[in-house]
Amino acid sequence: MQLRKTDTRSDRPKYIFVTGGVMSGLGKGVISASTAKLLQLTGLKVSCVKIDPYVNYDAGTMNPVAHGEVFVTKDGGECDMDLGNYERFLDVALTREHNITTGRVYLEVIQLERNGKYLGQCVQIIPHITDNIKDRVRKIVQDEKLDVVVVECGGTVGDIESQPFLEAFRQIELEEGGLNTLYIHVTLAPVLDVVGEQKTKPTQHSVQELRRIGIQPDILAVRCKKPLAAETRRKISLFASVNERSVISCYDVASIYQVPEILEEQGMLSAISEKIGLRSNKPRWSKWKQISKSSYNFDSVGLKIAAIGKYVSLPDSYVSVYHALWHAGAQIGSKIDVTWIDSEKFENSSGKLKLRYFDRFNGIIAPGGFGKRGSEGIINIANYARIKKIPYLGICFGFQLAIVAFVRNVCMLEDANSTELDPDTEHPVVKYMPEQNKKKEMGGSMRLGEHEIEIIEGSNARRLYGSRIIYRRHRHRFEFNQDYRQKIEDLGMIPSAHSDRGLRTETVEIPKHPFYFGVQYHSEFHSRPGRPEESFGAFVKAASFRS
Ligand code: GLN
Repeated sequence: MQLRKTDTRSDRPKYIFVTGGVMSGLGKGVISASTAKLLQLTGLKVSCVKIDPYVNYDAGTMNPVAHGEVFVTKDGGECDMDLGNYERFLDVALTREHNITTGRVYLEVIQLERNGKYLGQCVQIIPHITDNIKDRVRKIVQDEKLDVVVVECGGTVGDIESQPFLEAFRQIELEEGGLNTLYIHVTLAPVLDVVGEQKTKPTQHSVQELRRIGIQPDILAVRCKKPLAAETRRKISLFASVNERSVISCYDVASIYQVPEILEEQGMLSAISEKIGLRSNKPRWSKWKQISKSSYNFDSVGLKIAAIGKYVSLPDSYVSVYHALWHAGAQIGSKIDVTWIDSEKFENSSGKLKLRYFDRFNGIIAPGGFGKRGSEGIINIANYARIKKIPYLGICFGFQLAIVAFVRNVCMLEDANSTELDPDTEHPVVKYMPEQNKKKEMGGSMRLGEHEIEIIEGSNARRLYGSRIIYRRHRHRFEFNQDYRQKIEDLGMIPSAHSDRGLRTETVEIPKHPFYFGVQYHSEFHSRPGRPEESFGAFVKAASFRS
């Protein structure tokens, strides 16, 4: 895209860039999503973009324990988990283009160079890489006819790998004009002593670092345990050269869905409007305040839910599952008390005794996963939930292993397994999907994204979804082997929804059980605050009936 002359007209799309300082994990994603939400509530068309400066093409090949959940978009993108927050806050479905990585940018620029696009030129970070970054953001703005885009850059200012992105952010102000560009910097005001003094030095330093690369922040969103003291705010304002009204304190709250309100209480929209001139700076809260209130204000004691999985050392690995549970709990006024349990602890035969541990829970959820480690534990627990009539929701891996447990223990085919876990099993009840066979690459090679699913009449699935057709997102290589369909059906586990003209089973259920439901798709990605995904809604309701 050609460099434009500085344009200061205010009717152009607005670009808001969110950078982070001091350290990672400050909740930049929530602050970005909340800012976008506030703008959306004023009637603007808003979306978010996440930049991940790592070299991976996408998040698909990364271990969730290292990087958190892989969020799957409707179009099959394997993306950073912040996209989940954007979708949940804005109630939109994003595409993979909303997650830009160094890998994607460089791969495209190098391919263009090979194709002769830059013939005769030396291809450089500035302008070729930075142009590619800006083009990607602008394309989203144009294609989606956005009034505002909020672009969040992962990592912290000063990271070597984020420099080209921050440089692109800097250039955008030059090209789009100051009236159309705003920079929000997220920092931390830690408290070290008993007196409770909020320290401002880390913020001062990180703003200096940002200025060194040519960006002067317009708004500082300062994370802190308690609201910023007047003196802290004054000090930050002075050192960072940001007016006091634009130093926003992002203190701890009970639910992330309250963050738009706490930003607005401090005048966030006026602060934004001061720089980029919004049409209106009055949010029409409609249902949002009610949604946010229901996510922390509960009438009943917590429901105890056991979440069994392989990546429990980092709860972010299942962040959408966690949110979906909360959405479902909020709907019935119940707090959800999730215990993350490493399934590996329930693997061996002496594990049978320990399985009694699960009696104390109102429900058991088994989310997605890959590989052998811990899988026998999930099979044991899925079987225990069936026998003890504990509500069970299995998602993807949890769906596949519930079928394995059923075939082993009810159909009495003892060595039944998934070929993912035992390629030579005599009874491959879960098997590699045939059309995946030819693909050799690891990245993007699963069955990904949204597919149409048809639900069988008269089933529990049909009752809980209230519709014959639903669309849900997938991320898997293995699937239920239709050769075992009759066997499980005859003994009481019913495949109740399918896709691809009956080729693939999408749900199984045990009608005689209070709630035993498995879904091949990832229902968690569809859940929204105020509108929990149906399988979660039904699971949590069933859990609430178990005393
Ligand atoms: N490992 C299983 C598969 O590839 C399940 C995947 C998942 O849980 N996302 O089919």
